Amino acid sequence: MGGMVDKTALKERVKEEAEKIFPELKKLKDIIGENPELGSEEEKASQQLVESLRNHGFEVEYPFHGMHTAFKAVLRGSGPGPVIAILAEYDALPGVGHGCGHNIIGTSGIGAGIVVSKLMDQLSGEIWVIGTPAEEGHGPYGGSKVRMANEGVFDGVDVSYMVHPTTGLSEAQGNFLAVSGVTIEFKGKTAHAAADAHIGANALNAAMITYMAIHANRQQLRRDANPVVHGIITEGGLASNIIPDRAVLRFGVRSSDDTYVPELIEMVKNSAKGAAIATGCEVKFKSSTGLKSNIPLRRLEKLITDIWDEMDHPYDDPVKVAIQPPGGSTDFADVTHVVPGIHPMIGITQKEMPMHSVQFANCTMTPEGDEGLMAGVLTLALASVEILSDPELLAEIKAEFEEKRIN
Ligand SMILES: [Zn+2]
Ligand SMILES: [Zn+2]
Repeated sequence: MGGMVDKTALKERVKEEAEKIFPELKKLKDIIGENPELGSEEEKASQQLVESLRNHGFEVEYPFHGMHTAFKAVLRGSGPGPVIAILAEYDALPGVGHGCGHNIIGTSGIGAGIVVSKLMDQLSGEIWVIGTPAEEGHGPYGGSKVRMANEGVFDGVDVSYMVHPTTGLSEAQGNFLAVSGVTIEFKGKTAHAAADAHIGANALNAAMITYMAIHANRQQLRRDANPVVHGIITEGGLASNIIPDRAVLRFGVRSSDDTYVPELIEMVKNSAKGAAIATGCEVKFKSSTGLKSNIPLRRLEKLITDIWDEMDHPYDDPVKVAIQPPGGSTDFADVTHVVPGIHPMIGITQKEMPMHSVQFANCTMTPEGDEGLMAGVLTLALASVEILSDPELLAEIKAEFEEKRIN
């Protein structure tokens, strides 16, 4: 056709289609909520999301990218144009089920994709919905978006986004910390804890000294870089009358400055090396894959807040949000380093409560949880219609991304 699309009419259609599909999405959200599956094991959730996408005409690759709970669904429009990748998460947490609300993420992601798919006869480009397992890090697919971002899954994508439920007011753009982890293993020498103690090498003592040395270093950390260092001791001996020959610690370090993370890891390792010398133990390190901090894009943020103004959806002042120290981390941040991306947080409760809790899992099943799902579907679908029908907007988003990516 090539003529101008009537954006207002398309946006009206978004609302109609969202209303139509909502009962199906709510049912799916509740089923996934009631049947939480850990990361890398999200078999039922991925199956049901894929089935729904297929029923609505998407071409789906499942399993995808070597992961049996990942998928990629594609629906093409009336001609070549921008490619939008909406991401869906659906993994749960041990002990607290959907305490991070990923049942809302998965269903709002596929819901937005399905809503936009109904309009693609009037739009050029492609809408993708990618199912990304194990955001919480559990199992072999842990942080699957990092792998996808590094291995070309987003090649050809123009913009990518998802929504995440939260407590309090919605936030168009969160700040996320870079994170990295290290496992520390001490090898000592067993001996009778009384009779032969002088020929033992106490691995538990090495672990204790490491833990305290890290504590001692906290005061000297760069406060401007929002550093967080958290750790546990997972092994520390088998019996009190044996000098422990093995102790294991696991530490995570986070910062809003990606370049500071290796320094923090170095500090943790040096603390352990000192402890090894002090106790006569050997020390070994195993590093785990880290996550980056996100590249925030103001143009995408404005797109989201404009949509929320139109929807009459309340949200927190982006200027205020931008200067708050970041709290968590997400594997979506790595995606923002390869394509322009945004990760809005949708408030589903005004009650004070922690994330990663049974209370928050329960919130996803209330009428407010349903409203959050609907808000997520509309936000992502309306953003997609705006981008697919407005080349100038896309050019502005890409220009800001190129500028921020280089700097
Ligand atoms: Zn989480
Ligand atoms: Zn989460």
